[in-house]
Amino acid sequence: MTEIVALHDVPEFHEQTDVVVCGLGGAGVSVALEARATGAEVVALERFSAGGGSTMLSACEMYLGGSGGTRLQRDLGIEDSSENMVNYLMTCFGEHADRARVEAFVDGAAEHFDWLEAQGIPYRRSLFEGRDVVALTGDSLQFTGNERAWPFDQRATPVPRGHLPEDAGHEGGMVVMNTLLGKLEGAGVNCWYDSRLLGLIQEDNGRICGVVAKVDNAPRYVLARRGVVLTTGGFIMNERMTQQNIPELASICTRHGNPGDQGDGIRLGVAAGGVAIHMGQAFVGVAHYPPAQLTYGLFVNAQGQRFINEDVYLSRLGAAVSQQTDMRAFMFIDNRYFARPDYHQTTEIVAVGETVAEVEEEAGLPPGSLQHTVEYYNRYAAEGVDPLFHKSPTWLAPLIEPPFALVDYSLPLLQPACFTLGGLDTLPTGEVLNAEREPIPGLFAAGRTACGIPRTGAGYASGMSVADATLFGRKAGRQAALQPQR
Ligand SMILES: Cc1cc2nc3c(=O)[nH]c(=O)nc-3n(C[C@H](O)[C@H](O)[C@H](O)COP(=O)(O)OP(=O)(O)OC[C@H]3O[C@@H](n4cnc5c(N)ncnc54)[C@H](O)[C@@H]3O)c2cc1C
Repeated sequence: MTEIVALHDVPEFHEQTDVVVCGLGGAGVSVALEARATGAEVVALERFSAGGGSTMLSACEMYLGGSGGTRLQRDLGIEDSSENMVNYLMTCFGEHADRARVEAFVDGAAEHFDWLEAQGIPYRRSLFEGRDVVALTGDSLQFTGNERAWPFDQRATPVPRGHLPEDAGHEGGMVVMNTLLGKLEGAGVNCWYDSRLLGLIQEDNGRICGVVAKVDNAPRYVLARRGVVLTTGGFIMNERMTQQNIPELASICTRHGNPGDQGDGIRLGVAAGGVAIHMGQAFVGVAHYPPAQLTYGLFVNAQGQRFINEDVYLSRLGAAVSQQTDMRAFMFIDNRYFARPDYHQTTEIVAVGETVAEVEEEAGLPPGSLQHTVEYYNRYAAEGVDPLFHKSPTWLAPLIEPPFALVDYSLPLLQPACFTLGGLDTLPTGEVLNAEREPIPGLFAAGRTACGIPRTGAGYASGMSVADATLFGRKAGRQAALQPQR
């Protein structure tokens, strides 16, 4: 990778424009459309022969609401408020979340939904009330997994905010990205495909004023009069970067993304003086539902002890499992609720027995540990309470119908889906910050190239990557377009 090229070393500029967008996934297409709408000339580089990135592969569930509700929430008579949504997101991402960024997101989320609909993405006016990772019913609104669970239900009133394209199921990314990419030509964005960003051009005063791209196997220099926006996605496909930053996951996870998730934008941003933050954070998916009935099961670690309420979102569970000894965890379940998890057909049944003691012994758990855990849980579940982890009464029932089973959800066996959350430190408006947290003139980032809202706390929250990438992508596009011309 070329990395940083001094302006005075550029042999010639092959193209001049206002804003250069690097990577045409969810963040990049949003940057490009918004920068054009703000009046800037835009060149968009995409490494592959077509845009889409990981966003195209995704279900494109977007977590949106606040401000009295999105148009979809309002049409369904669902009340929402910004305060409630901020409280929920701050609970998801913890005390060290970036509150200013969360508030900026919530302020813009309802308008962002209007923008998505205005681009032509169809959303059906119907709510899926069940518990699933992605509603497969065609409905466009759902709870995303944590809202009705402790401690979220204590700090925010549960409101469904997962917005899904109509009838798309897991194919939402195709709908969203085909729609947005289809707008580029009409909007007048100059798209360069098969064009890989290799380097950034820097003036002596530190300002970024262009890029070097590899096109037809030759370097091409593009001058950016107003700004360069890095939107090349995360780094889950980069072996070295994952070994450096998420070593314990790198060797066992299933890499969830597209081959371009090489961290190019993050590395170039750092080379230009930016700082990569929260690089050890990742989405870890332990999908213990659907079917929803598995939520009645009990999770225990290798000590036979519970460590979480089982009615949470799958990535909150994933984060918790990754904290257990040797990343091992098991679901204890009875005959009444037993089923194979839809997304983890490779789970192994470790032990089966007519009594809890038999299961415990066959699994090699410490004597009495599982028996104690199940006896305690069942005693209170019969009264509809969970004194330890406050699982909702909806999912509480004594596990008493033999045979009983212990099913292995240990991460080395499961090889859970992972994608990265760390990236460049930026302002909510996209400016890339240096170590003193001062903007590097001319340089912006969005999507998983930047460190967005999902960064800290006990696990990622569903719908927050694409919503963050596209909403903050639009902000970065506008900000770059509004910079004075050099
Ligand atoms: C199967 C799956 C399902 C998911 N479901 C959801 C979901 O429902 N909701 C949610 O919020 N998140 C979901 N995610 C996560 C989410 O899709 C991604 O985190 C997010 O879309 C990343 O967006 P992005 O714009 O940053 O990157 P991308 O969409 O990956 O775009 C990056 C683009 O940059 C290009 N590029 C890379 N390097 C270069 C370079 N050097 N030069 C030029 N171009 C380059 C790539 O080719 C790509 O087109 C899912 C992920 C997967 C894999």
